[in-house]
Amino acid sequence: MIAKYQKVAVIGAGTMGNGIAHVFAQSGYDVNLIDVSQPALDKALVTIGKNMDRQVKKELMTEEAKNAALGRIHAFTVLKEGVADRDIVVEAATENVELKFKIFREMDAHSPEHAILATNTSSISITHLAAQTQRSGKVIGMHFMNPVPVMKLVEIITGYDTTEEIKNDTVALSADLGKIPVAVNDYPGFVANRILMPMINEAIYTLFEGVAGAEEIDNVMKLGMGHPMGPLRLADFIGLDVCLAILNVLHEGFGNPKYAPCPLLKKMVAAGHLGDKTGRGFYTYSK
Ligand code: NAD
Repeated sequence: MIAKYQKVAVIGAGTMGNGIAHVFAQSGYDVNLIDVSQPALDKALVTIGKNMDRQVKKELMTEEAKNAALGRIHAFTVLKEGVADRDIVVEAATENVELKFKIFREMDAHSPEHAILATNTSSISITHLAAQTQRSGKVIGMHFMNPVPVMKLVEIITGYDTTEEIKNDTVALSADLGKIPVAVNDYPGFVANRILMPMINEAIYTLFEGVAGAEEIDNVMKLGMGHPMGPLRLADFIGLDVCLAILNVLHEGFGNPKYAPCPLLKKMVAAGHLGDKTGRGFYTYSK
């Protein structure tokens, strides 16, 4: 554990927030998990328990270590109470610019002066979030991948003002969680989504133009390129609304038509077919 950052807060207890709380607690950090929704907090604690049970079964963790880690996670519904004595706050709330601006202003107002304010955003500018605070040098992107306890990468995104010290500390902290941090600069989509989303969009265009069916497209990429999951299956897993939102950020951010989202993607999102979470996307899923 890194002594300077023993007390952590995670804002948002959804898919990513519960995973981030899990890995910090597992590595010995004290975690305040904050969400406006009590049911979301309840669900997150159950999910973390189940995911840790799986690690125990696989002998990746002992029963005692699991119980100790769960004991280090405390649930809060009021942000200012959850961040008050923290050394680092990782924001993982819903991907919405206005909401994140508001949360960053609150994080800045109520966290100790020394605290790092990090965000797990997939696409919102770190520099723009930092500008909502009085400590832009201490604001940084900490982009974990889903599922957090399994995926090794943490993309570390430095904003225009992020200091070298904060970058180095965040890199060290990520490594201490057993992750592999990769530091990049703040431009639309960072690195991960700037490369992934155009590939997914091109796969959707390939389907849209009738070049091949969804399974054929995914099989080409799995069997021919060694991808563990085809791009259309991956889009369903990420959520088609999320893919569309990130492509819009790339399109607007660079002003380059090559990032324009495929009309089929827009139509599926308008129809409410968002992938795994709604039971239907490029494939159908039983709940
Ligand atoms: P999610 O919808 O599963 O969870 C978001 C949570 O935020 C919900 O529980 C919601 O109640 C909570 N929330 C909303 N407003 C809040 C507020 N004011 N204060 C506290 N909590 C609030 O979303 P997610 O998939 O976990 O995504 C969270 C963040 O992680 C987003 O920025 C997203 O872009 C990013 N991200 C997601 C993935 C992914 O694969 N899902 C991968 C990498 C990064």
